[in-house]
Amino acid sequence: MTPMQIRTTRNEHPVAEDRLAEILADPGFGKHFTDHMFTVEWTPDAGWHDARIEPYGPISLDPATAVLHYAQETFEGMKAYRHADGSVWSFRPEENAKRMVRSSHRLALPVLEVEDFIAAVDELVRVDERWVPTTTEPGTGEKSLYVRPFMFASEKFLGVRPSQHVTFMVIASPAGSYFKGGVKPVTLWLTEEYTRAGRGGMGAAKTGGNYASSLVAQQQAIAQGCDQVVFLDSQEGRYVEELGGMNMYFVYDDGRIVTPATGTILEGITRASIIELAGKLGHQVEERRFSIDEWREGVTSGAIREIFACGTAAVVTPVGGLRWDGGEVPAPPETELTMKVRQALVDVQFGRAEDTFGWLHRIV
Ligand SMILES: *Cc1c(COP(=O)(O)O)cnc(C)c1O
Repeated sequence: MTPMQIRTTRNEHPVAEDRLAEILADPGFGKHFTDHMFTVEWTPDAGWHDARIEPYGPISLDPATAVLHYAQETFEGMKAYRHADGSVWSFRPEENAKRMVRSSHRLALPVLEVEDFIAAVDELVRVDERWVPTTTEPGTGEKSLYVRPFMFASEKFLGVRPSQHVTFMVIASPAGSYFKGGVKPVTLWLTEEYTRAGRGGMGAAKTGGNYASSLVAQQQAIAQGCDQVVFLDSQEGRYVEELGGMNMYFVYDDGRIVTPATGTILEGITRASIIELAGKLGHQVEERRFSIDEWREGVTSGAIREIFACGTAAVVTPVGGLRWDGGEVPAPPETELTMKVRQALVDVQFGRAEDTFGWLHRIV
């Protein structure tokens, strides 16, 4: 495998410095995009070819493009963090690259080599380095550059079979601190009507279809006055899976931590990192099926002290009360370990704590 050659065409009209400063002062999430984007294309004969970085902008697709009809696509979510010395780093990018290979396998999309995935992300972040928020100014907290690699069926064809033309792109968007007005636990709605994944389905793949199927349940959660929806397993409707886009953890009074086992859930890189981190902090971590009854009984008896959810966007967020049609479980009493784990992770990501696991990858 020869490494991918990337051709770069600079944006002649980059966002002006004063406008950029305005955006970075309050970036929000997923609203503003950098000056460039990365694209590489695949065909069975040529393999991956024509890797390029170009000015950010709309792409033109034929109305018959396969992804628009059959949703053959995968994506990733990761961040670039600026350290106090100005350097820029990503967090475990090879894990994102490997997960995209697994997701792509499930969606019958071609393999993009781990090195090429990382090279694409690194090169885009380098070209758009000025978009990585700085954390040294007062009050800039946890701002980062959110990076979104994605791969989709770009063949113009309405037949149902794996696409013979595939496009992989990377775009980036500055992201603000998730907790702006201080940390507030998320309240959850338990859906008994919808599930997000079944045995043999694509629950473990990071693909848009999983999000599409979660939206109506999320809409109901909001209508019920809750922040997020929780899904149960599709077979028995008893075991906790995850939120729409975050994995879950239950902390017991004896220090044990339980997180639902994988298979139909998406294996978060934050989830995996917390398993390692909590182990180092002296906690026993159990990956197993976890029933909704254990949740209710644990909180009611006081055995469960904390519940939290995790993912790249929010890092770690405490979970409050749970409600469903005809019942509820109150919020667990504490958030101490939740906030400790959160701080430990964020400190490594922003270079404020030693990276003992070797999780960081330098980009600039
Ligand atoms: C991306 C994602 C997560 C979190 O994964 P991280 O790698 O920690 O960001 C959890 N659940 C779903 C469904 C996801 O798509």
